[in-house]
Amino acid sequence: MRNVYVPVPAKIIDIKIETRDVKTYRLVFEYDGFRDDFSFSAGQFVEFSVPAVGESTFCIASAPDDKGYIECSVKKVGKVTEAIHMLEVDNMVGIRGPYGNCFPIEDMKDKDVIFVGGGIGLAPLRSLIRQVLSGRENFKKITIIYGALSVQDLVYKDELEEWQKRADIKTVLTVDPGGETADWKGRIGFVPSVLEEVSPSGTNSIVITCGPPIMIKFVLLTLDKLGFAPEQILTTLEMKMKCGIGQCGRCNVGNIYVCKDGPVFTYSQIKEFIEEIN
Ligand SMILES: Cc1cc2nc3c(=O)[nH]c(=O)nc-3n(C[C@H](O)[C@H](O)[C@H](O)COP(=O)(O)OP(=O)(O)OC[C@H]3O[C@@H](n4cnc5c(N)ncnc54)[C@H](O)[C@@H]3O)c2cc1C
Repeated sequence: MRNVYVPVPAKIIDIKIETRDVKTYRLVFEYDGFRDDFSFSAGQFVEFSVPAVGESTFCIASAPDDKGYIECSVKKVGKVTEAIHMLEVDNMVGIRGPYGNCFPIEDMKDKDVIFVGGGIGLAPLRSLIRQVLSGRENFKKITIIYGALSVQDLVYKDELEEWQKRADIKTVLTVDPGGETADWKGRIGFVPSVLEEVSPSGTNSIVITCGPPIMIKFVLLTLDKLGFAPEQILTTLEMKMKCGIGQCGRCNVGNIYVCKDGPVFTYSQIKEFIEEIN
């Protein structure tokens, strides 16, 4: 039996520069048992290690149907992520996982689905959005509200453009005041205010949100104002993690382990711990 703490070797086959501090890595497994059998559900994460540096947690940003590879989008913030940003195509890394629970896609069927993302928080949403769009007929209205600090900080620009062109999805992009460029055609304002302006209906709908903790807090307040019940709101938490499998106790919030009980939670599950999320 494979030791769960031992990473599986994976090769970087493509690197896409998304923004000044985010890159997306496409990985293929160089380990027989994993090469064809690796499967995951949208919302799950992996532990990504750089030899001789360390390990960090990233959601899988590609879709479960993207067979043969996975993608992780990595924002450079510290030691491990800086080392990842130094890597090149053909370099080897280690992967453990997939870990954690996933978005309950079956519960979203026949409902309006509203995605609310901020910054690198679009990464876990992207996996789910791609899955939802590949079975578009199973869902009612789809709204994507996404914002970043500035135009330059928007991730997945090609896909954002594709989504904007589709008549069967409403895609609303925004940048923080001061982050616009002269030719910016999207909104200018913080994500929670734009959500309030768009004002999606809380009837037969579900919201999935991910972004910086401060954004999530205000998005939750706005959704409450718009009449959404806590059970209709899902978020994915990015607490500091170490083992990824509920052993080390690093990612606890209240009595939950984000790594094994989450990272996907309904607002009703985390409401009482909301002040601890940062
Ligand atoms: C389930 C989950 C999914 C995640 N998915 C992504 C993803 O798709 N893309 C991505 O870029 N990041 C993601 N993260 C955050 C990522 O794990 C951290 O940014 C990374 O571990 C930082 O490692 P480092 O060694 O570079 O930073 P460190 O040197 O350890 O720290 C540098 C700075 O980053 C802060 N930091 C460290 N870990 C976290 C964290 N988990 N959340 C917030 N701040 C942190 C530290 O407090 C410090 O200020 C995810 C985290 C979790 C738990």
